[in-house]
Amino acid sequence: MGIAISPSIDPKASSFVSKTAKILIGGKWSEAASGKTFDTYNPATGEVLARVAEGDREDIERAVKAARKAFEVGPWSTMTASERGKLMWRLADLLEKNLEEFATLESLDNGKPLSIARAADVPLAVDLFRYMAGWATKIEGATFPISVPYAPGAKFFAYTRREPVGVVGQIIPWNFPLLMAAWKLGPALATGNTVVLKPAEQTPLTAIRLGELFAEAGFPDGVVNVVPGFGETAGAALAAHPDVDKVAFTGSTEVGKLILQAAAGNLKKVSLELGGKSPNVVFADADIKGAIRGAASAIFFNHGQCCCAGSRLFIEQPIYDQVVEGVAEQAKKIKIGSGLDADTQMGPLVSAEQLARVCGFLESGFSEGAKAVAGGKKHGDKGYFVEPTVLVNTNDKMKVIQEEIFGPVVAAIPFKDTAEVAARANDSIYGLAAGIWTKDVSKAHRLAEKMRAGTVWINCYNIFDAALPFGGYKQSGWGREMGKDSLELYTEVKAVCAQI
Ligand code: ADP
Repeated sequence: MGIAISPSIDPKASSFVSKTAKILIGGKWSEAASGKTFDTYNPATGEVLARVAEGDREDIERAVKAARKAFEVGPWSTMTASERGKLMWRLADLLEKNLEEFATLESLDNGKPLSIARAADVPLAVDLFRYMAGWATKIEGATFPISVPYAPGAKFFAYTRREPVGVVGQIIPWNFPLLMAAWKLGPALATGNTVVLKPAEQTPLTAIRLGELFAEAGFPDGVVNVVPGFGETAGAALAAHPDVDKVAFTGSTEVGKLILQAAAGNLKKVSLELGGKSPNVVFADADIKGAIRGAASAIFFNHGQCCCAGSRLFIEQPIYDQVVEGVAEQAKKIKIGSGLDADTQMGPLVSAEQLARVCGFLESGFSEGAKAVAGGKKHGDKGYFVEPTVLVNTNDKMKVIQEEIFGPVVAAIPFKDTAEVAARANDSIYGLAAGIWTKDVSKAHRLAEKMRAGTVWINCYNIFDAALPFGGYKQSGWGREMGKDSLELYTEVKAVCAQI
């Protein structure tokens, strides 16, 4: 297999894509039970990038068995919290050591600029594992004073234990393949669960390579199993599996609902991080230059393929023209190209399917009367590129305003006052994130309170930290990833009450 990768590329990444990537089950690498493979594509060229074993129901079956065994009887089940934390820290060190290789694989597979994968995706994943390693030794219960009216005179000692949920299925998207795997693996492992991870079919490479690092770090066999494959087959089998105790999913709201249905069979626990249509509000009293740069990066970062992308840009009327012009100017300046080119600021969308989807949204917007003041169409004739696009002349009922585009397309919408913008910002089935740009601190915090969103950024956007919980209101999801809150997704609380 393999592609014509420039010799200047990280040699380890180049060697990794040249071999068929396999499935990791119980510490062993294997072909798929069916023997089938699938290809992943380099989104910058549309050419085949790598060949990957195509896991399906039978592989999921084996992986869940291995994860169950590791959870019940393996060394993982008796390991101390401190030992677990050390393994996770070692994993983070290994990931950091191999930063260049992981960043290159991510850029090749997903299309994002190598510079971004180097500066954001991989370091954030490293940091997340370190942060979660620290939590391993801090999973605590509590004691309770017990007063029982029907047992006069009796004394009780009651306490809670936080225990791992068990075998966890994790289904990962393609927009931040490594980082989303880290967000899920970190808290699951810190709290002592075992995992079957299914990366997205478009971008499985970094998760598979990460599987190798788990062994190198010293994790016992079967604690982390990685089964690449398609959503409708491997993903669906994992979500429905009767011996999986919890499923964690990041992806579209539509598929999130399917996961929920599949999970109903054994009522496994479910956490979901889904779509968004996030409002980004610029007031006339903002630092306008900063707000323009921030608004552009809120939508164009990762080519708009962020569930929290600031895709509805609300601008206070007196500065509407100035901000639209500024954001359009930024959009036009963005250097589009292959993720591997050093001066690329925006790479291709991840797949031909996403390209068609984003272009479909643009056509729908134009047919309903929207206009593009920057971009508005596919870019070039090779690869899956779309121009960074700024739409005006929209109304709140249009598809481009209500639905998630998941591409570099922002709609600039004028507003009159805070009350109006709060109502319109919340007029969405989603509630993942919101942005506010103003120098008026009180106004910012008052509006932050009104926003029905899991994250509100003030005078910044897309700022993530392993300590800060992330997740959605409304149809943007269930539960919070990262931070202390994420530990709740991966633990059961047991109340123990003893008469003494
Ligand atoms: P997108 O629509 O942006 O491609 P998806 O929500 O389809 O994102 O995919 C996110 C993840 O969910 C991927 O790993 C994909 O394979 C998986 N997936 C897709 N459909 C299903 C399904 N029916 N059941 C389980 N997993 C699925």
